[in-house]
Amino acid sequence: MSVYVVGHKSPDTDSVTAAIAYAELMKAKGEDYIACVQGELNPETAVVLEKFGAATPELMTDAAGKQVALVDHSDLAQAPDNLGDGEVVAVVDHHKIGDVTTNNPIFFCAMPVGCTGTVLKILYDMEGVAVSSQVAGLMLAAILSDTVNFKSPTCTDADKKAVEELKTIAGVDDTDGLFMDMLKAKSAVDGVPPMDLLDRDYKDFDMNGKKVGVGQLELATLDQVASMRDDLYKAMEEKKADGRHTVLLMLTDVVREGTDLMVVSDDPALIEGAFNAKLDGNSMWIDGMMSRKKQTVPNLQNAFGC
Ligand code: MG
Ligand code: MG
Ligand code: MG
Repeated sequence: MSVYVVGHKSPDTDSVTAAIAYAELMKAKGEDYIACVQGELNPETAVVLEKFGAATPELMTDAAGKQVALVDHSDLAQAPDNLGDGEVVAVVDHHKIGDVTTNNPIFFCAMPVGCTGTVLKILYDMEGVAVSSQVAGLMLAAILSDTVNFKSPTCTDADKKAVEELKTIAGVDDTDGLFMDMLKAKSAVDGVPPMDLLDRDYKDFDMNGKKVGVGQLELATLDQVASMRDDLYKAMEEKKADGRHTVLLMLTDVVREGTDLMVVSDDPALIEGAFNAKLDGNSMWIDGMMSRKKQTVPNLQNAFGC
């Protein structure tokens, strides 16, 4: 029986490349693993797959009757539908442990590093499996993406070490150049429908029984979305109306190293308190905020009493 390897909903570069890299690792060990995605590739990931000549993984959104390996998440809200009617056989991740449970012992590997690609590089080394130059390029791109070219507080020495080794295998000399090509693709917003921008890098979380959604757009400058803010706000309101307590959109300025946080909430004061900031209109600037995982989500969990 094949095992379907899949990253989270609204797939990002790490989710897609980790599915490919983990499937390749298991295939090298003689196992039948198939890399999948839960949705359309974002523009950054499309550029990365093309640059390293990798095919788009097949679409898989329903886990019923399937064996699945989860990469880059272990939250039910981010996993394929009907996971309870399938079987999780492995998790490889770098986030907080989520709410996926299993009936049997499984391979579970989560490390507090900046990217699933880094965890996978360590697993390849542990297993003594050589990383192909294509997979090395994919994992390298994922680490640059997830760590925002090493600027995110999630970045660790293990991520930097993995990049040093992977760039040699992939034959990439200029990692800053690769990052800028990726940033250009990911921050291209012209002509993109507002809901698509909100969904581009979006995750729902259960916060003490309340559904809270957090999207993030990484930008070279906030000017890129200046003319779209009203439309983005409308998209956020529309998403909130679908049973959510709060929808946040992180407009992250990668150069200034901070985030303008757009807020639609039943309790805006709670969100202000979570970040110790005051809303100016429908957003607030939070200096130094780069990471949803390490900064936004933990502050929300504290505020919601999780
Ligand atoms: Mg991810
Ligand atoms: Mg990741
Ligand atoms: Mg990310």
